[in-house]
Formats: sequence, C-alpha cells, structure tokens
Amino acid sequence: MIAGLLELLADARRRRSGLLGFTCYDAESAAGVLTAAGGRPVVMLISSQLVTAPAGDLIVTGLRAMAERAGSPVCLQLDHAHDLDTIRAGCELGVGAVMADGSRLHLEANAEFVREARRIAAPRGVAVEAQLGSIEGNEEVAIEVSSDDLTDAELAVRFVSEAEPDCLGVAAGNVHGIYLEEARLDLARIRAITSRVGLPLVLHGGSGLDSATIRSAIAAGITKVNLNTELRQAYLGRTERELPVALDGARLLALHTKQMKAVESAAAERFAIVDAPVWSRRERSSAVGGLPRRESAGLSRGVA
Ligand SMILES: [Zn+2]
Repeated sequence: MIAGLLELLADARRRRSGLLGFTCYDAESAAGVLTAAGGRPVVMLISSQLVTAPAGDLIVTGLRAMAERAGSPVCLQLDHAHDLDTIRAGCELGVGAVMADGSRLHLEANAEFVREARRIAAPRGVAVEAQLGSIEGNEEVAIEVSSDDLTDAELAVRFVSEAEPDCLGVAAGNVHGIYLEEARLDLARIRAITSRVGLPLVLHGGSGLDSATIRSAIAAGITKVNLNTELRQAYLGRTERELPVALDGARLLALHTKQMKAVESAAAERFAIVDAPVWSRRERSSAVGGLPRRESAGLSRGVA
C-alpha cells in the first residue's frame, strides 16, 4: 500500500529505529525488496536517471503499481534529482517524495533549489528531502571513493530555515559506492545536527556500512538509511552465475526469479538491522529533546 514519507519517518522514530530505502530499477529488484519487507514499512528509491531513461515513465508507473499492491506501507521516492524538470516528471508519475539534491551548489542556491522543488511538490502532497554537504561517489556506479566536505551543524540550521525541507540528507563520512578504507562515520556530527535541526536526517551510502555502524548512526539521529550497492551487486552477481544456464533454452523467467531472490536475500539482511529498537527512550530524549511537531502524525494501518 502507498504511504507518505513523513508518516513512515514518524513511525520509524516511534519504533525507536530506522526506515530503509532501497533503489529499485526494475520489476525484479522491486519484487525482491517488497518480498523482503514482508509487511515492514519501506521506501522504494527511484533513480532520477530511470525517470529520464527510454520508457522510464512506463517502468516507474509499473513500480508504483507494485507498491500499491504490496502488503507493506511503501513510499516511492525520486532520488538525487538535480533539476526541476526531473522533479516535475517524478511528481507527475506519482512518487510520494523527491530528493531535491542541490548539494553541489553553494548554500543559498541549494536552498533556493529546494524551495522551487517544494513549490512543485507541496501542492501534490509530495515530501521533499534536501541534502547539505557533498557525498562522494556515484549513486549509479559502485566505485571506490573517500569522503570529504562534511555537513556543518550551524550551516544546517541556517539551510533548513531557508529551504524548509521535510528531511535532510547529511554528509558525515558516508559515501556512495564502495568505501576506499574502513568507513568512519562522524557520530558526534550527526548528534550535533540532530539536536540543532530537529528534522529527520537521512544517511546516503549505507551500503558499505556494517550493521553496528548503521545502528549507531540511527541512535545518533539518522531516521532513513538509503541502500543500493549491495542489491545491485547481488543482482548482477547472480545474473552472471545463472546466465549460462538461462542461455541454454532462453530461460528468461527462471533468470528473473533468481535475480529477484538475490535481491530479496540482500535486502532481508538489511531489514534485520532495524527490527529491534536502537535506542532507549531516555537516550533519545536527552539526545534530541523529543520528536519534532510535524512528526506527530502516525501510520493508520499495516505496520509490522
Ligand atoms: Zn544517495
């Protein structure tokens, strides 16, 4: 069933845990994610490159139909949109949230871009995620990268007051793709931003982080964690292994089932991270001073 991003974020905070977002490129990856979710809330991330790809509108429409049919509360989110045309296209295809990624711009231009995105999204009831601080690497290609340009808590306060996003992606040592060296998240930085900003925070590049690090990030104030690389690796790895068998007899459906199962098991491992509460009520109330007012609305049904 379709759910709004704000209600899923609020639900994650109430469960004292996190919300996971997985990039879904096609029916096989989406079916794997939704099967692994098994009733848990989830965000299906839609690549901006998919929206503008040949027949991308048809594929996104199909992914939305899968989300409607799913037993989990699902929000479709357009990920890493760098221009307003793509945001408009995503909204017209029925996403429930967009990431207006102006992190490559200076702060004022980034805030203006997010405000413009809100003018497109808000009348349609679409939530807007912004990003402050650059996340190294490429969300579509798994290359080895190191981190730089971390989010500053004071600048985040200024940015949020100017841009008024619904949630904020932060750079705290996280990267897209594969970590060049052992990942070191700056948890103190996440705590500082959380306590100052009072919005749900988003961690991109969760794929290279182990379970304990992701739980620590959630305890420090992250609410949504975006994951992608491990699903693509599982999908492509299984495809490579199964392709010789599939080619013998053109067994396409059998290959698609294997791809879906590979994504399902990779996603299931990640869902296990957020099944148990991550912080005690005392820890969180002292860390962030309670929940922001706009997170007060709850999920009405279907939360595992
Ligand atoms: Zn990302």
